[in-house]
Amino acid sequence: MSTQAIAAVASDLVAGLLGAGFNGAVRLPGEPEYDEQRRSVIPSVDSRPLVVAEALGRTDVQAAVRTAREYGVPIAVQATGHGTRVPADGGILLKTTQMTGVLVDPERRIAKVAPGARWGAVLDAARQFGLAPLSGSHRDVGVTGYTLGGGVGWLARKYGFAADSVIRAEVVTADGRTVTASAEQHPDLFWAIRGGTGNFGIVTSLEFRLYPVREVHAGIVYYGIDRAAAILRRYRDWTATIPNELSTAVVLTRVPGTEQRAVAIKVLYAGPAELAEHLLKPLFEIAGPRLAGELKTIEYADAAMGGTPARHLDFLDTLTDEVIDVVTELEDAMVEIRHWGGAMAHPGPGAGPIGHREASYSLIIDREVVGLPNSGRTFVNFLGDPGRADTAYGAADLERLREVKRAYDPTNFFHLNANIRP
Ligand SMILES: Cc1cc2nc3c(=O)[nH]c(=O)nc-3n(C[C@H](O)[C@H](O)[C@H](O)COP(=O)(O)OP(=O)(O)OC[C@H]3O[C@@H](n4cnc5c(N)ncnc54)[C@H](O)[C@@H]3O)c2cc1C
Repeated sequence: MSTQAIAAVASDLVAGLLGAGFNGAVRLPGEPEYDEQRRSVIPSVDSRPLVVAEALGRTDVQAAVRTAREYGVPIAVQATGHGTRVPADGGILLKTTQMTGVLVDPERRIAKVAPGARWGAVLDAARQFGLAPLSGSHRDVGVTGYTLGGGVGWLARKYGFAADSVIRAEVVTADGRTVTASAEQHPDLFWAIRGGTGNFGIVTSLEFRLYPVREVHAGIVYYGIDRAAAILRRYRDWTATIPNELSTAVVLTRVPGTEQRAVAIKVLYAGPAELAEHLLKPLFEIAGPRLAGELKTIEYADAAMGGTPARHLDFLDTLTDEVIDVVTELEDAMVEIRHWGGAMAHPGPGAGPIGHREASYSLIIDREVVGLPNSGRTFVNFLGDPGRADTAYGAADLERLREVKRAYDPTNFFHLNANIRP
């Protein structure tokens, strides 16, 4: 299409949005905010929507969905861009960035958030009541996108995935209706969105449980890279003995601010410092002299645990010698082996479709690696290739997800995501 033709379709679409009652700002290609608004945190994604539409509330979301349907163009939803891997080319990019409301009910220990809220806002709203959400490694990540993809945070071994703590959502479905999804209302939809991401509708409000966690003993400590194999072998045995309050990862990386390769041990213990030090002793005593870092008692909301970019992602049931040998031989790679289990594996009845909950460890490497055994299992929030969404679910869950998709979005209207086909 020529530039003039694109401009004509785009301005038709704007007229459609306004006619449907859309109240927020709309940005067209060439306008100053368009490039800023369409950006993904993932640099390789260069989204070229016809229109960027910034919703101010639920009725704007409905107006955008109805307009996209009427004009036969695709629609993508974006809060922060942290998980935007599919460009919204030729469609409407619906931004929820302005919808930032966060309400905390300290009595019921529940938070209710609008779809543009980021974890930092929930952490700060909850901390004043001694409560914590099941947030992840980064305050800037969007609550809704993270939670719909399962959401694995540093309290997950104790309290489960963020999706397992959702109690209600308001969803604009493919036909432009708004429905409440909960255990009582639209239970299939409620099941599907707690792990099935944006495949079933646009969530305009999310309610989830908070937990009584104020202070944690946490941090990242660095040891010599020559200890890597010994630390990982000890880690394999030691992780089988620790309580669910203790979450850890071993990362082959560098000492921050230097070129020195090191083994980082990441720790978050939801309990007193003395007990943490006692529990960690068998791991630390094999690690040799500490090069840098410390563990501190801090508020959970201030614990910055960092992440590892995932090019290679797999789940391990056991940490075999073979895996240890391969990853410790990789020169310069960033390798994260994180301990899963605990409440993640035992969510209780009715929990959503988070595949591979039973895994003992996640393995993330910042590059493709040949020669590693690969189980083919993934986690939707860490999926590098959105075309592989199927690999994030077990076979029975995938079949049920497709059934729910056929019921709520039979034409795959919501496909600009980690897509589950009907
Ligand atoms: C620095 C960083 C740290 C991270 N840490 C963790 C972590 O610790 N644990 C973890 O589990 N994940 C983590 N992630 C992955 C993150 O949870 C996903 O990328 C998630 O999709 C981000 O959601 P978002 O709204 O911020 O991103 P966006 O790019 O705004 O949205 C991503 C996708 O989420 C869906 N979505 C967003 N909003 C809605 C909505 N209102 N309705 C329906 N669907 C919606 C859509 O499919 C959309 O394409 C991290 C990512 C980054 C970049």
